[in-house]
Amino acid sequence: MSISDADVSRLAQDLYSWALRKVHDDTKAALAAARDREESETARRTLNMMLQSARMAEDQSRYVCSDSGVPVYFVRIGTKADWDADIRSAIRDGFNHLVETIDPPILKHVTNPLTLERGYHGKDMPIVTFDLVGGADYIEIVCSPKALGSGRWAAMELFTFPTLETIETYILDTAIKAGSQHCPPVIMGVGIGGTFDYCAKMSKEATLRPLGHKNEEPILAAMEERLTEAVNATGFGPMGTGGMTTVLGVHINYAAGHGFTPVAVSFNCWINRRTRARLYSDGTVERLE
Ligand code: SF4
Repeated sequence: MSISDADVSRLAQDLYSWALRKVHDDTKAALAAARDREESETARRTLNMMLQSARMAEDQSRYVCSDSGVPVYFVRIGTKADWDADIRSAIRDGFNHLVETIDPPILKHVTNPLTLERGYHGKDMPIVTFDLVGGADYIEIVCSPKALGSGRWAAMELFTFPTLETIETYILDTAIKAGSQHCPPVIMGVGIGGTFDYCAKMSKEATLRPLGHKNEEPILAAMEERLTEAVNATGFGPMGTGGMTTVLGVHINYAAGHGFTPVAVSFNCWINRRTRARLYSDGTVERLE
């Protein structure tokens, strides 16, 4: 047996649908901890509303937010996986089927950048990227629907032999520029180094790291802590209502590069959409997130 088009297509639909209806346990725990820490009554109320919305969406199988975003999938193919599928087109077919069948319906967010026409389909949609996982006997798919609020404020800059201080200042400035327009408290993902395109991908992948995991690189672990404190000190607070919680976590990935150093910053809004599952050759699905 091998992983088929139908297996990939079904999982692509499920991952998207799950992402719309459930806020991760790690995110709910972080929101609850933030509520307990907050000194502002308004901030506490806002965080409580978020937790309540998450609970209601889960209980009633509704969406946490009507901004269902655009479909973004990360595919990691195990080098020992047995598959016979056109993965990209199976994901596209899965998303097309989802659009026709999902209840409640999702809004038309896929936008043609040349005509501004909106719909469900478009060139290169869904956005799918591929990586290999050495020795693994599965295909792992991560779905992270990208919403307007959290997507709009991503930014990137290229520096030449920057100091850590320069990098950190840029990341903080980007957070200040975003203010509360990305529906905070957010997860910030940062990429440092590599090339222009690789850096952007690292920053997006950094948002997918579960909350509460310390960076293995001590320099970055310290930077993450300082930035979390600094962004929360801006006082934008939950949904911009003021308070101590603008960010739930700052996650930084890095790669070696040339003397020029790209720095990319991405955000995930408080819903922190990310679902992940593995497909095995016999069609078994292991849901991880
Ligand atoms: S950024 Fe998130 S919370 Fe804000 S509107 Fe979009 S999906 Fe909803």
